[in-house]
Amino acid sequence: MLSFDLTNVRRLLCVGAHADDIEIGLGGTLLSLLQRTPDLKITWAVASAPGPRADEARASAQAYLREHAASSIQIAGFRESFFPDQWTDIKQWFEELRRQGDPDVVFTHFRNDRHQDHRVLSDLAWNTFRNHLILEYEILKYDGDLGTPNLYVPLDPAIAERKIDLLMRHFISQTSKHWFTPDTFSALHRIRGVECASPSGMAEAFYARKAVWQPTP
Ligand SMILES: [Zn+2]
Repeated sequence: MLSFDLTNVRRLLCVGAHADDIEIGLGGTLLSLLQRTPDLKITWAVASAPGPRADEARASAQAYLREHAASSIQIAGFRESFFPDQWTDIKQWFEELRRQGDPDVVFTHFRNDRHQDHRVLSDLAWNTFRNHLILEYEILKYDGDLGTPNLYVPLDPAIAERKIDLLMRHFISQTSKHWFTPDTFSALHRIRGVECASPSGMAEAFYARKAVWQPTP
């Protein structure tokens, strides 16, 4: 199997439609990268977090980024569930993110995600970042839209556990939802772990729709 190394990345842009999307989709991958890369700089951009969810999103992001002072947390105020009607404004938000620097990797939602807000962010990431590695993350949900990812990140057991612990600790407003439980997150880790023969049995997975080989001279 050809392996893929993310440890030389220095700048990441992570976009999430809602307060907890980034953590659910790539929390384990981020914890692994942050542990290995002290000078990693992350732009953590959440498009919508109404009411108490903004405080939850900020506290959670700060827990990830506390030792990475160069990173930034940006929480916008777009209307949840109505992103398709806010296309122009969200596009302008992406242009602003683009002006802030040139990320090595852009993490966004899965193109075929059935949540309309997620799809808007996926489409606009591709629309805005034209010469970048874009990795799309997945979120297990009622709609039943899981696909067949093609890039896997095996997770150390302690990292998988910490990701879930941070989710349950910081997003109290979500814990009344039937799906927001530790076993939901663990189940998807386990499925993706089986698919990539992860030594720990756990993994997160992404869609690498397009990659360019640039041989070093
Ligand atoms: Zn979401």
